[in-house]
Amino acid sequence: ITEETALITIFGGTGDLANRKLYPAIYRLYAKGFLKENFAVIGTARRQLTDALFRERVASSIASIADKSHIQAFVSHFYYRSHDVTNKESYKVLLDLSNELDTTYHLKGNRVFFLAMAPTFFNEIAIRLKSEGLVATKGYQRLMIEKPFGHDLASAQELNDALGHAFNENQIYRIDHYLGKEMVQNVSAIRFANPMIEALWNNRHISNVQVTLAEELGVEERGGYYDNSGALRDMFQNHILQVVSLLLMDFPLTLDKAEIRAEKVRLLRSLDVPELDVVNNLFVPGQYDANPTDPQTFKAYRSEENVSPTSTTETYVAGKLTSHSDRWNGVPIYIRTGKRLSNKKTNIVIEFKNDRPDLFDDSSEKVANTLVIEIAPNESITLKLNVKVPGLGLATQPTQLQTAADAVDQNAPEAYEKVIHDCLRGDATYFSHWDEVALSWQLADRIYEGWKLSPTELPNYDSGSAGPIAADELLARDGHTWYPLS
Ligand code: NAD
Repeated sequence: ITEETALITIFGGTGDLANRKLYPAIYRLYAKGFLKENFAVIGTARRQLTDALFRERVASSIASIADKSHIQAFVSHFYYRSHDVTNKESYKVLLDLSNELDTTYHLKGNRVFFLAMAPTFFNEIAIRLKSEGLVATKGYQRLMIEKPFGHDLASAQELNDALGHAFNENQIYRIDHYLGKEMVQNVSAIRFANPMIEALWNNRHISNVQVTLAEELGVEERGGYYDNSGALRDMFQNHILQVVSLLLMDFPLTLDKAEIRAEKVRLLRSLDVPELDVVNNLFVPGQYDANPTDPQTFKAYRSEENVSPTSTTETYVAGKLTSHSDRWNGVPIYIRTGKRLSNKKTNIVIEFKNDRPDLFDDSSEKVANTLVIEIAPNESITLKLNVKVPGLGLATQPTQLQTAADAVDQNAPEAYEKVIHDCLRGDATYFSHWDEVALSWQLADRIYEGWKLSPTELPNYDSGSAGPIAADELLARDGHTWYPLS
């Protein structure tokens, strides 16, 4: 365990993300010894708070996970300054405190800036951090930002240019918290530590790939944000395409971040950007309607708080991606994500080809060989095989090899713990590079354009169902079916 030394400044320090995820994550790093004496955290947001009150808030955000005897020592590293992003004076206050803490805690000028607030402010903050001298230190300066990174390619480019005033690409850590998930990182291990698997990882042996990020919840209280975003921007452009690129990229020379990024970018570049007139055949938008048996509890999306009653925002997307790389040419890569589906399920399904003659009895029940990597709600790896039915005769039956299915603790801020730790160590492997972001937006923008040309009638699936019928038809046309959600 190596102790990290840094000043972490959190813009939006009173917000939901900071309270629910960031403080518990920082605490876990402290409890494990990755942060000890030489760190400090500045929380900054609009409201007026004393350091003491701020520390109380931090203490209560970690109460359920913390060892009581540690809490006071931990929160003594936290400081608060109220701040108005557009006011130059605010940055002077932050600069003075930063320099003071740098001396008190021997922070070597190492600074991490976490932007946990609305992206509309990012531009201004980046410019001020530079102009007011907050990034002029001897140590490292790193910027961590959450999604959404832009609204489309043009706005993402604009944001990137703005951040570029103060930070170069190597200093920008664009969080995709899916990449911090244990099982997503396990994808590389499953592939690259098992030559047997990697040998089969191509279009000779794989029939189709399915990536599912299904949510049971609706938009909850995020209707206002979500209605301007939708599933394609909120989930596809970032999480789905990141998982797809990690899953299907070529074997990197090393596990070095530059090598992995290069391979991910190559994979993303190999994905076909569909012609406008075929977008609707390949990508299915959906929006949830009320649940027919309990419409009060499970309302239609259009009846949710802060959602327009005529909204055409998609709460679901299914699609078929194709790649023109040698390795994946001809293999459909199906993706789906949506809200208010029957189950919460995040998984990756690799279905292998079955083009051998069937030698076994007619009574055989057979499954396609399938590798399932479940990311949530449980973490497990399952391989489906066919074995002989015991006894006389030569019939087969399906069986499966499965790792222990460990339930993922819903409240565990594991992913944020990892991303903050990686940033402190300067390891950007599991963050999105600008090239990846740009390529992903290019694809998402095209899909929107295609959808706009011939809009689908929404809503088109019931709350609590498996999604729109059109998503099943998408696979049926290729002779495939979705791996069940439940
Ligand atoms: P929030 O509304 O709970 O918090 C916003 C914070 O910004 C508050 O601390 C507020 O005081 C501060 N703020 C607002 N205007 C300000 C101003 N003019 N000057 C100074 N401070 C100001 O938001 P959140 O849910 O914490 O989300 C923060 C960011 O993270 C957003 O970009 C969001 O999209 C993203 N995000 C959040 C989550 C989550 O779980 N909450 C998940 C993924 C991404």
